[in-house]
Amino acid sequence: MAYKLKSPREIELMREAGRLVRQVLDHLAGVAAPGVTTAVLNDEAERMCRQAGAQCLFKGVPGPKGPFPGAICCSINEQVVHGIPGERKIAAGDLVSIDFGVRLHGYCGDAATTLIIGEVGETRRRLVDVTRRMLEVAIEMARPGERWSTIAAAMKRLADEQKFGVVRQFVGHGIGTEMHEDPKVPNYVSRALKAHDIVLTEGLVLAVEPMVNVGTEEVNVLADGWTVVTADGQPSAHFEHMLAITADGVDVLTDGR
Ligand code: MG
Repeated sequence: MAYKLKSPREIELMREAGRLVRQVLDHLAGVAAPGVTTAVLNDEAERMCRQAGAQCLFKGVPGPKGPFPGAICCSINEQVVHGIPGERKIAAGDLVSIDFGVRLHGYCGDAATTLIIGEVGETRRRLVDVTRRMLEVAIEMARPGERWSTIAAAMKRLADEQKFGVVRQFVGHGIGTEMHEDPKVPNYVSRALKAHDIVLTEGLVLAVEPMVNVGTEEVNVLADGWTVVTADGQPSAHFEHMLAITADGVDVLTDGR
């Protein structure tokens, strides 16, 4: 399958978008604390986005029960992704996953992180560490000619070793002038991936985003039409970076450089 490959100029524009996303996520990491509502995080993200002359990517995305109302997705504990920011107060012991995206000068940036609020138990800490490590492994392995299935298998193995569940219903994606472009980028190996593997090529830009649950990989969507939660109520973590495949390796466009 042919994907839209990006020129060096386009990749530089995506790095600018990615840098803004990282600035916002870093800022929110400092604001998030017990007693702070997720609406406050959302308002901060929206303000920084506006000041930078960028467009918040997630706001207004159509859904089954109406458009997404937030600038950020804020998903706490058993919420996996697509949590709607609001009046809920963050509490000590929470895992707070924040996903944020912008369009700047016509190009998209998209990244996510999971924050540990205060003290958490060993399992929650291990969940966050392993999910972050899965993304690091993807970055270490990505280079031209590599097959995505090889990387996805290595990512999944890390979760399997801990008996954690890797979410299958939501996956990473190509990204460019649109937030979601082909290909779909799973964090596990399926028959479909093996049949249509992604061979990494210079100019391919992927948003890689492992979503990992302490328990079952199964998820449900709440009645709001957006919030994805684990089927067993156990916590979940989520990290995302935007990776550009270069001539000799990979360039992380959302690491703030
Ligand atoms: Mg994404």
